[in-house]
Amino acid sequence: MKIICIGRNYAAHAAELGNERPSRPVVFMKPPTAILPNNKPFYYPEFSEDIHFEVELVVKVAKNGRHVQPEFAMDYVAGIGLGIDFTARDLQSQLKLKGHPWEIAKGFDNSAPLSPQFFAPDDFADLNDIEFGLRKNDEEVQHGHSRNMLFPLTEIICYVSQYFRLQKGDLIFTGTPEGVGPVQPGDELVGFLVTKDGEQEMLRTRVK
Ligand code: ZN
Repeated sequence: MKIICIGRNYAAHAAELGNERPSRPVVFMKPPTAILPNNKPFYYPEFSEDIHFEVELVVKVAKNGRHVQPEFAMDYVAGIGLGIDFTARDLQSQLKLKGHPWEIAKGFDNSAPLSPQFFAPDDFADLNDIEFGLRKNDEEVQHGHSRNMLFPLTEIICYVSQYFRLQKGDLIFTGTPEGVGPVQPGDELVGFLVTKDGEQEMLRTRVK
């Protein structure tokens, strides 16, 4: 199983970090050891002083395939969940300055809290317009709509499958909307999304 992540997929978030709007999807990976399952606590790592939350819709891949064509892309979506792409922003900034890969700033252990539950595509009125967000200590800090993705699900699936063979069970983190920010020990993060049945709490993580 692999975790494919899309960076800078919402224009307002790219702008808040001073990044230009990408002309093609920005792709990076996290190893499977990054997953923090079942609402377990997140232990603040010693190598960073600026861990940021990024809430993201997560696609669970339904089947194996490569070079997926647009008309079949949605067949690869088994379900939609929610994740946090924890980022050591201080490390990432240093690495970006040098033009180095940013894996250690994004793919470290437990950097990907993942919702225990995934909803089937049929549970959403429109897969390309899913509302989601994040609360920190009961205050809403991020609120997004997947219709604002620069590269929607179809484009992401077609693009990444040109380079990486998709395998059943792979996860795709689809990028974060604006509002990212730091966490401190003691913070509680609660992520939600909206299905046909209304708002669903998807994950809850305490920072320790
Ligand atoms: Zn991200």
